[in-house]
Amino acid sequence: MSDPKPVSLFHFIERAEKVHAPCMGEDRYNWQSNDPHVSRYAAQRCRRDCPMVLFCRQWAKDTGQRGGTWGGVTDNERGYERLRRMEERRQARIAKVAADLAAREAEDERIARFQGGRNTQT
Ligand code: SF4
Repeated sequence: MSDPKPVSLFHFIERAEKVHAPCMGEDRYNWQSNDPHVSRYAAQRCRRDCPMVLFCRQWAKDTGQRGGTWGGVTDNERGYERLRRMEERRQARIAKVAADLAAREAEDERIARFQGGRNTQT
């Protein structure tokens, strides 16, 4: 079971230092780069050499990290993921509006039928 509250950045760094995570090395600035080539290199190092890659990926997601490379995922890749989730939410809203509209039309039709029936009785 995962921890409901993500650890603080301080504790995250403490863990990373303890396991000698590649992003704690001398080339640590590569993990903050926006250059696609550099961040791809950093992501490869995460996936290949870091024992806390899955923990890190989840932590970055839970804490909403925006820039840099975390858990083997570059900022661009997280951006695509954000866009995909936004598109899913947009599609869900469209489906809800369509369902509400269909329900309202059905209700209007039911009322019209009821009123039509009442008018023929008088
Ligand atoms: S997965 Fe990458 S960013 Fe995360 S701790 Fe390991 S080396 Fe650092």
